[in-house]
Amino acid sequence: AESAEDIGRHLNRAIRELPTTKAFDKLVGGGRGGKLRLQADKPVVLVLGSGWGAHSLMKVIDTDKYAVVCISPRNYFLFTPMLPSTSVGTVEFRSLLEPVRVANPFVDYFEAVCDRIDLDEKIATCTGAIAYKDGRLPQFEVPYDILVVSVGEQSATFGTPGVRENCFFMKEIADSVALRQRIQNQFELAALPGTSEEDMRTTLHFVVVGGGPTGVEFAGTLSDFLRNDLKRKYPELMSYVRVSLLNSAQSILTQFDEKMQMHALENFKRVGVDVRTGVRVTEVTQDIIKLKGGEEISYGVCVWSAGNAPRPLVQQLAEQIPEQAEFQPGGRPSKLAVDPFLRVIGANDVLAIGDNSLVVGDRLPTTAQVAGQQGAYAAHMINRGFMPLTGGLQQPPPSKVADVLAPGQQMFATMGSMATSDDGDEGLIYYKKPFEFLNLGTLAYIGDNEALTEILGFKLSGGLAYLIWKSVYITKQVSFRNRVLILFDWMKAQVFGRDLSNF
Ligand code: FAD
Repeated sequence: AESAEDIGRHLNRAIRELPTTKAFDKLVGGGRGGKLRLQADKPVVLVLGSGWGAHSLMKVIDTDKYAVVCISPRNYFLFTPMLPSTSVGTVEFRSLLEPVRVANPFVDYFEAVCDRIDLDEKIATCTGAIAYKDGRLPQFEVPYDILVVSVGEQSATFGTPGVRENCFFMKEIADSVALRQRIQNQFELAALPGTSEEDMRTTLHFVVVGGGPTGVEFAGTLSDFLRNDLKRKYPELMSYVRVSLLNSAQSILTQFDEKMQMHALENFKRVGVDVRTGVRVTEVTQDIIKLKGGEEISYGVCVWSAGNAPRPLVQQLAEQIPEQAEFQPGGRPSKLAVDPFLRVIGANDVLAIGDNSLVVGDRLPTTAQVAGQQGAYAAHMINRGFMPLTGGLQQPPPSKVADVLAPGQQMFATMGSMATSDDGDEGLIYYKKPFEFLNLGTLAYIGDNEALTEILGFKLSGGLAYLIWKSVYITKQVSFRNRVLILFDWMKAQVFGRDLSNF
């Protein structure tokens, strides 16, 4: 019988003797990676982010072959298309989330922000997202064999003064939680005895900046909440309530055709959302929104949904790689340029997927659909043993692809020592299938149980489109649990009305 100590010593020796990848050596031997599972000698795939791209990759990637590590400041996936519904209580926050540890229990997750990548040493430097009691934030490093960057983008303010300080955003669940409370607070404030009519008008003026799908869906959802729920509880305040939507373009929802845009505008007119197009916000102070031309609008709540900007990590990465420069508009790093195999151009063993990437030569929309499909594509490629060695636009030597590629097919090299072709040949082989986006359609909710849908060329607007919107989103949920929760939420809101508590 061996003592626990002896067994421990044997185990440690056995682990040390395992042939390991470079990253695995550092994780286990150097002890720099925290509590990674010791699962033999697997290459480490480091995934940055837990959004659409990363989540879909983690669902598909083969954790028998790879030690998958996820770094993200949020430990859950968020179903963003329905986020506006949570800000008025049509759907509850937690119904849209799936914890990373549930999405794939075999992935090692660390709640942290990746601050820096050393592309030569293949090490990510990270800061924990949660502080110790004394305020210190944990710092650590994670070495990798393959890096997948899927950190998305952040809300863009275009340098407009006062936006960060005075506006609400519609990007993360925390934004929606804060907004829901604020909407309700505004009504309680306006209902207090002694509030002047002018104060009521200002307090109950809800302004949405941005006429894209998110701004429009929020304005539509808010107007439903006002007409269906708040009207019953605060009837005396309703004559003071206003919802305005400001957009710098000449129309709204420009991804749909003109007829559908008109339908959305007419619908808003009918439900009392005041849409102003061709206006540019130049500043937001605590009390007013200033427009180009000098006009000032007093407001109670301003929701800013005017576009996306790059995350600092992505800018920093793009700056590190000289080959990226020619793909950055105006010389300012904004996205990681990738080849058709999603490999970051000019970097070794790095893939970029989702909103933070730009496939050179392809104009893909920055949507959940693209990010999700790219995540699954990248996972399949990695599962089949292809390492994303050099991201470049060069062609592989013709002798190496002749028997793998269809004649005339454009393709790019992958490598490797560990790659084995379908017929069992080992050695340098090439992945022949570049990423192709399959457009499954475009949907937008426009309020009052109406939506716009364009699916496989079929365009619909109105009530039927809303039913399609609902069915698509319920089927697209990432788990059965979420599907059931959302159905219950919809039923609850229908039967009892939306909750009006302001906690
Ligand atoms: P994200 O999903 O944004 O995920 C980024 C992840 O990276 C997050 O987990 C974040 O916490 C993490 N992260 C950030 N910085 C770091 C760091 N330094 N280190 C590590 N992790 C980091 N698309 C559609 O197709 N249809 C829709 O109807 C639709 N509606 C939308 C509604 C709203 C309100 C919003 C906000 C977006 C909507 N989108 C929609 C767009 C869609 O959500 C995005 O295109 C999609 O989220 C992009 O996925 P991603 O993986 O690139 O990034």
